[in-house]
Amino acid sequence: MTIEDIRTAGGPVAPTRGRQRPLGVTDVVLTGGFWARLQDANAAATLRHCEQWMEKLGWLANFDRVADGTTGPDRPGWSFSDSEVYKLIEAYAWEFGRSGDPTADEAVRRLTARVGRAQDVDGYLNTAFGHGEQQPRYSDLEMGHELYCVGHLLQAAVARLRTAGADDLVAIAQCAADHVCATFGRDGRPGICGHPEIEVGLAELGRALGEERYVEQARLFLDRRGHGTLRDIPLGRAYFQDDVPVLEATTWRGHAVRALYLTAAAVDVAVEQDDGELLAAVERQWTNAVARRTYLTGGMGSRHQDEGFGEDWELPPDRAYCETCAGIASVMVSWRLFLATGDVRYADLMERTFFNVLAASPRPDGRAFFYANPLHQRSAGTPADDDAVNPRAEGGDRAPWFDVSCCPTNVARTLATWHTYVATAGERELTLLQYASAHLDAPDGLGLEVTTTYPDSGHVSVRVTRAPSGPVTLRLRVPPWATGAVLVEGGRSTVVAPGFAVVDRELVTGETIELTLPMTPRFTWPDPRIDAVRGCVAVERGPLVLCAESHDLPPGTTLDDMRVHATTAPTDRDGTVTVRAVADPGPTEPWPYTAEPPGPGVTAPTDLPLVPYHRWAERGPSAMRVWLPIVRADSVRHGREQPADHES
Ligand SMILES: [Zn+2]
Repeated sequence: MTIEDIRTAGGPVAPTRGRQRPLGVTDVVLTGGFWARLQDANAAATLRHCEQWMEKLGWLANFDRVADGTTGPDRPGWSFSDSEVYKLIEAYAWEFGRSGDPTADEAVRRLTARVGRAQDVDGYLNTAFGHGEQQPRYSDLEMGHELYCVGHLLQAAVARLRTAGADDLVAIAQCAADHVCATFGRDGRPGICGHPEIEVGLAELGRALGEERYVEQARLFLDRRGHGTLRDIPLGRAYFQDDVPVLEATTWRGHAVRALYLTAAAVDVAVEQDDGELLAAVERQWTNAVARRTYLTGGMGSRHQDEGFGEDWELPPDRAYCETCAGIASVMVSWRLFLATGDVRYADLMERTFFNVLAASPRPDGRAFFYANPLHQRSAGTPADDDAVNPRAEGGDRAPWFDVSCCPTNVARTLATWHTYVATAGERELTLLQYASAHLDAPDGLGLEVTTTYPDSGHVSVRVTRAPSGPVTLRLRVPPWATGAVLVEGGRSTVVAPGFAVVDRELVTGETIELTLPMTPRFTWPDPRIDAVRGCVAVERGPLVLCAESHDLPPGTTLDDMRVHATTAPTDRDGTVTVRAVADPGPTEPWPYTAEPPGPGVTAPTDLPLVPYHRWAERGPSAMRVWLPIVRADSVRHGREQPADHES
């Protein structure tokens, strides 16, 4: 595969039509800053870290045991542990495409060889079912995850196809996809998988190989869902979205990752089959769920019992589940919708989720992760053991690995491709969506060098390194919070509104276009219908949600005691944001309910420092909160005068 082939092959998503086109995996190269640091740690540590854990726990050897004929029901790992191997292969494949690192290529080959030996002659590939004394194939479609695992295998093959070309991994995936089509096709068993993922894998492999059969099979799975196709389970049919057909659903419900993977596939199928009704249904679900079921961080899923969406306005900060994988899945949906429609709101939510969910998960060294991402930790957790599997997905400290370890490999594959979300192309048009220092080698002969320390500063400099002849349209996304952003180009300075700042003319090689986004910290108010945070305010700076940590409290106070003066704007001194706060321990009675409203009982005001949410617990476990209760007098004032200034 030549570099030109890789350039044109696309990233994780390459629709055959749509308002915007993604750039290729080598078209954008990060050159420093926030995301380059995360991408570097991913390459240097996370990929190998994941492989070592899966080797240690026997999840890789599961494939060897199937090949050797020695496996059985005692196999280590959950039924879906194969999918972690596939996500890791996908991450290695993208990393090889991004950096050309030969050790990433070797890792793909090494893992592919072990996976391939476990494939049955008819294409079936799974280490938890169908071999030795294990349960028969497809005997537990509700919770067995067999098709889910294949979906991740197909996504890994897409990564390989688009960065190295067809090889053994692609052949294994095609064989598995053909087996799925033969078994669950129109004339086959009318089943679906309890965990959507096969659909999005089939749709993308279909695109990558030009195999419409695979897209059609994804469509079949989508159409079968929502009609009570699966057996009922105690968590209810909404858990796996088999309660309402995708076309009729008005919002996301049930298990968040399931709901969002399913939706990503629905966009793929809608785009490939030019189904406007299906696309409109998905946009409606996005609109409703983002307006009423999404946290300030972009996190999704407020219920622990089923890792699922709550009802509208059910967004408790302390019980927020906000699984890292759900944030990644939300990005998958919004990216596809942006490519299909070009609507800026999808790119806006991606940025929010990138900075406040994805970036919150990995420790800076890339060797420990958050699984759940609550917006409020009431008491500092205990330090996670760097050498032990974390049995729970929560606890207030990043852990090296989990019993259910979906998030680390999902972080790995997403960071390996983060640069592919920076920009999109249209007809003689380039749109910058996410800001990071980078070289861009865009279609139509346009070259750009972006220089910025975003999100530390809001200044973005775009130098034209190669200008095509004739006019081009360069668009720069202005986030919804960036009121008063300024664009300087062609000797003119203009205030630009949220949406897109547009430069539409012939560009000159060597010229520089500057965008300045206002980074003054700001209060953000919740919709009063979100009961759990009524009477609270959050602070944001640029794309970052901030939080208070117990590490920074005045002596003798607790985070529970702190009240914020919402009448005094937050300040930013050399990058340290503070709010004016007082400690109010409240009444000391043995019963926390009183006939009278609480009195003023407050200490002298102090400046309470805030840190970016994505950095919480980096200094060790802490109590933490994003939503800060306001001083009562402020609450009354804002209740009367202050309109809710919340974003979508
Ligand atoms: Zn996860």
